[in-house]
Amino acid sequence: ACGGGREGTTSTDPSSSGSSSTAAGGFAADATIGVALPWLGTQNWKEAQTLFDSQLTEAGFTPLIQAADNKVPQQQQQIEAMIEQGAEAIVVGPVDGTQLGSVLETAKSSGVLVLGYDRLIENTDAVDGVIQFGNIRTGELQGQALLDGLAAEKGSGPYNIELFAGSPADPNAPKFFEGAMKVLQPKIDDGTLVVVSGQLDFTQAATQDWDNSKAQARMDSLLSGFYSDKKIDGVLAPNDGIARAIITSAEQAGQEIPVTSGLDAENETIAWIASGKQYSTVAKPTEDLVGKTVELIKAAQKGEALPEGDATENNGKVDVPIYQLDPVVVTKANLKEVFANDPERMKLIEENS
Ligand code: BGC
Repeated sequence: ACGGGREGTTSTDPSSSGSSSTAAGGFAADATIGVALPWLGTQNWKEAQTLFDSQLTEAGFTPLIQAADNKVPQQQQQIEAMIEQGAEAIVVGPVDGTQLGSVLETAKSSGVLVLGYDRLIENTDAVDGVIQFGNIRTGELQGQALLDGLAAEKGSGPYNIELFAGSPADPNAPKFFEGAMKVLQPKIDDGTLVVVSGQLDFTQAATQDWDNSKAQARMDSLLSGFYSDKKIDGVLAPNDGIARAIITSAEQAGQEIPVTSGLDAENETIAWIASGKQYSTVAKPTEDLVGKTVELIKAAQKGEALPEGDATENNGKVDVPIYQLDPVVVTKANLKEVFANDPERMKLIEENS
């Protein structure tokens, strides 16, 4: 906050052309807004790409949207290019939360607004805020759904389960796991749940790059190594793609389908929940997350200070304001209720019920 801008001017007219930044910190109403997404490998990121394009355009901005195929150098280059092209705000879903410090310092020193989208940006003060769904809460919902599903579908326990987590580079992944373990660990300790492989740590459970095929390979080897004479009752899965990979592996191994958690309420999973193949997911509507992000950009464009966050989180260097939305657990029981106002998804549910 250097107060910069053009000396002697008190104008905050957002439409004043040719200025990159006004005295009050606002910027042109048609400014370029960069959006750097980590990859397009799951439905939520593809939706983000489409919705940022439409919502930013609708708000009068010029969107510049890139996705990085899970590669850190590619994302760094994409962000550099956005700065060079004069982006006034850059929204980032980092591939790796810790690897963007220096490129974002450059952005910050040029007065660019930097917002983390869905994932925290770590170890730098060059971040103005993060918009996300509560990650610990998401994990708690996943863990609780797994427990509830086991009781509902697999008799009276003890239950054999396995644990999966997301990509270690993604700052969300350990949070999801931590939230789930808050619910599951006491039940492991009292013997209700048995992790037959003994693989209880995040690092053992993690799935590099959120790669479904890696999760499926791990599940194949868990089943052949530990379950040749045992039934697997449930699996903690960090997102829907990995859940479907796990369920497929169990089916191929001749197992009854385990109760499996998920995340994202992807279309394919909505169909699987309707048909009873996947027990649960957690909905975190992309439309709301993009909407909240665009709202903050609009405030900054007018030169307003960002509203206070719902929480702050220390990113290793500074306390970052977190603008937080609430995730919703979804099972067959509330599927129609959750998507009542979504004709496309309601159709999927009808077709698969
Ligand atoms: C997102 C999830 C998504 C995962 C893999 C996470 O950061 O929060 O919604 O499934 O990335 O793309």
